[in-house]
Amino acid sequence: MLTGPSHRIRCPMKITKLSTFRVAPRWMFLKVETDEGIDGWGEPVVEGKSLSTEAAVHEFAPYLVGQDPMRINDLWQVMYRGGFYRGGPTLMSAIAGIDQALWDIKGKALGVPVYQLLGGLVRDKMKVYSWVGGDRPSDVIRDIKRLHERGFDTFKMNGSVEMGPLDNSAKVDAAIARIAEIREAFGNTIEFGIDFHGRIGLPMAKTMLRELEPHRPLFVEEPVLAEQDEHYARLAQHTSIPLAAGERMYSRFEFKRVFEAGGLAIVQPDPSHAGGISECLKIAAMAEAYDVALAPHCPLGPVALAACLHLDFVSHNAVLQEQSIGIHYNQGVEPLDYVLNPEDFVIQDGYMLPFTKPGLGVVMNEAHIREASLRAPDWRNPLWRHEDGSVAEW
Ligand SMILES: [Mg+2]
Repeated sequence: MLTGPSHRIRCPMKITKLSTFRVAPRWMFLKVETDEGIDGWGEPVVEGKSLSTEAAVHEFAPYLVGQDPMRINDLWQVMYRGGFYRGGPTLMSAIAGIDQALWDIKGKALGVPVYQLLGGLVRDKMKVYSWVGGDRPSDVIRDIKRLHERGFDTFKMNGSVEMGPLDNSAKVDAAIARIAEIREAFGNTIEFGIDFHGRIGLPMAKTMLRELEPHRPLFVEEPVLAEQDEHYARLAQHTSIPLAAGERMYSRFEFKRVFEAGGLAIVQPDPSHAGGISECLKIAAMAEAYDVALAPHCPLGPVALAACLHLDFVSHNAVLQEQSIGIHYNQGVEPLDYVLNPEDFVIQDGYMLPFTKPGLGVVMNEAHIREASLRAPDWRNPLWRHEDGSVAEW
């Protein structure tokens, strides 16, 4: 069969089918098939809302089947602008996974890794960090030791348990004491970011940032919820700790507000939530113009991680990559359970290397994915409550 570039212009490849597979622990894979036998994979999911995301993917299918998968820019605009209502986690995550699969197809069709299509490498290796501890702080020092021996020197942990809008000093002291112990145990041999997970309101965030300051965390993430993003600039005036956020922002149109307002030192768009590789590339470029660093969010599976890495390897301002190998959410399932090329995901001395295979570089274990999708759990995030019975942020 003739499949050269000129043939492709006259007789473009066509998308034939979209199939979704919800799998443990809380992920979903998308397979996009074409009439030329080239398949692309994506990872569209809103953790805890996978059924809604799956429905959204299939609502996009009629706009995609029969179309040329090489026209990613146009298909993205069709999905985004073609609907009167747009944005938000569900639609943007559905677009994200489809966009990833289209880049995978394009890379495979042209025989090159996706980063080559995006202009090529800006670095030889990418720094990754590891989560430590569970939802509730405990045994963090033991976990850091274990991971430090495996070559990691950068970590992230939750900053506190649930915290009320005006909580007590004992809770603040307990949270700070834990951080102080970690800094004392490891000195400057490690760095760590602290994720507030939006659990802390503005009054307590000011106190916590002030108390954390002497222990010099690498960054504080979601010091307040993304829907309170107007506070980031004000909080940044109170602290020298770099502030990070972005996992709950879904497009360049949301990010433009925080870039304009200032306050964030690091943005963390998620290529599985914020419109895919295409959109996150634009967000990364906007960030660079504002001298803001990039650290893509990724507590998800292997396709999402690969999408992040392709972005990191072409973005000069990418500083850190999150990854979920061994994260506390996974519980018995690991990202690499779903791939046939775990050797391409090796983390050495805290770094990952560029993928060398065409497309996203992930060889999916489709038989295992199909089998695992038969017993997908209906994962929901925990519902936490304050001592007085009111709902707390998880
Ligand atoms: Mg976070």
